[in-house]
Amino acid sequence: MSAAAPRDVAVIGAGPAGLYAAEIIANAGHRVTVYERMPSPARKFLLAGRGGLNLTHSEPLESFLTRYGTDAENVRAMVESFPPATLIEWANGLGADTFIGSSGRVFPRAMKASPLLRAWLRRLGELGVAIKTRHRWTGFTPERERGLLFETPEGTVTATPDATLFALGGASWPKLGSDADWAGTFSAAGIPVTPLAPANCGVRIAWSEIFKSRFEGAALKRIALTCAGATTRGEAIVTSAGLEGGAIYALIPHIRSALHSGTSATLAIDLKPDMDQSVLAERLAKPRGKETLTNFLRKATHLDPVALALLREAGTSLPAGSEALAARIKSVPLSVAGLAGMERAISTAGGIDWAALDRDMMIKGHPGVFAAGEMLDWEAPTGGYLLQATFATATRAANGLLAWLARERGGPGLNSLS
Ligand SMILES: Cc1cc2nc3c(=O)[nH]c(=O)nc-3n(C[C@H](O)[C@H](O)[C@H](O)COP(=O)(O)OP(=O)(O)OC[C@H]3O[C@@H](n4cnc5c(N)ncnc54)[C@H](O)[C@@H]3O)c2cc1C
Repeated sequence: MSAAAPRDVAVIGAGPAGLYAAEIIANAGHRVTVYERMPSPARKFLLAGRGGLNLTHSEPLESFLTRYGTDAENVRAMVESFPPATLIEWANGLGADTFIGSSGRVFPRAMKASPLLRAWLRRLGELGVAIKTRHRWTGFTPERERGLLFETPEGTVTATPDATLFALGGASWPKLGSDADWAGTFSAAGIPVTPLAPANCGVRIAWSEIFKSRFEGAALKRIALTCAGATTRGEAIVTSAGLEGGAIYALIPHIRSALHSGTSATLAIDLKPDMDQSVLAERLAKPRGKETLTNFLRKATHLDPVALALLREAGTSLPAGSEALAARIKSVPLSVAGLAGMERAISTAGGIDWAALDRDMMIKGHPGVFAAGEMLDWEAPTGGYLLQATFATATRAANGLLAWLARERGGPGLNSLS
């Protein structure tokens, strides 16, 4: 530890971004207090653990970086400096051995978040990090630029740390604590925030009652989905309100822009992406004999009942003729009424504008105040890209805060975490 005086640092939000930033800052010798509104930390991280906790992805870094889209230069640069191997090494260091699944996704062997979180909180305790739960940040104190206000069961309390790092998350699954209640306060303080919108969420489709009652919960497997010129492959699950699942999530940015453009958003589902339309048409041109059309289609195409029913959902009746039928199977058009709500979205798009931050993630015009994690304006598909960027942005912001403290307050400076 440096001989220079340790400083008081507030980290607000005990999700993975806040906890990782706290670890870096405490490791450098500062006194860190993490403030969290919920009764316990990292609730969304624990929920992510229910799906196995997909920490990151094993694909080559070059293609990994493309997942953040063309307008996310900042996030890409941060992930480049804090790549998947570093995150895996950190998880291994906490006893969470990882493995690469068949899809290339990286998971802890325990396939849950709780053992990793327990070891992490123990480590933070050993580093002297204090976690104050049931502390909801509500704003800055009027008299002091960086003074912080918290609502607690005991009433309003204030804190006046030397530096602050915000890691308040996005707005998905709001009942877990992140509901972006900070966005209004930030905007009022002159910090630009792009409105938050659901990402990695389902889409709303007006199913017929009969389709909904028969197929809610059914999976459309090995399909390809196209919207606004972009195509994804994978699986989609029928919900009462529409469709959700990996193949849908990856298309959300395109569906969102189609919806925003004012034109109607149409999702085209290819139920047989590995079969040419001409081959399908040939099969469907064979004589049907006395078979019902559904039976004939099932035998000729091997489509599941849900896929067969979907062919009829796209129009009042099935088109006549083998060519037209094959074309319908290759492109079932579904009109998207909108995106599903925040309540069950996996992540959010929007957040603090990059223009509001300097390269060290300090909020311009607010010296000593930094931000990290999902509260920043970026989005990525599922596959481990969300947690990777969460940790990478936390690393950059924590190191920015350390550099600022060393410069402005003469406190301990950068001390890379390994
Ligand atoms: C169902 C689900 C499954 C997921 N699975 C995966 C996965 O497998 N892989 C992956 O990469 N990502 C996954 N994610 C996404 C991932 O969990 C998030 O991207 C990540 O948690 C973001 O971290 P964060 O620290 O920025 O924000 P959060 O985890 O949201 O943490 C923010 C914290 O701030 C607290 N807070 C908010 N407002 C205040 C306030 N005013 N005062 C005090 N505290 C406040 C919140 O209570 C919360 O604890 C999943 C998300 C969901 C919902």
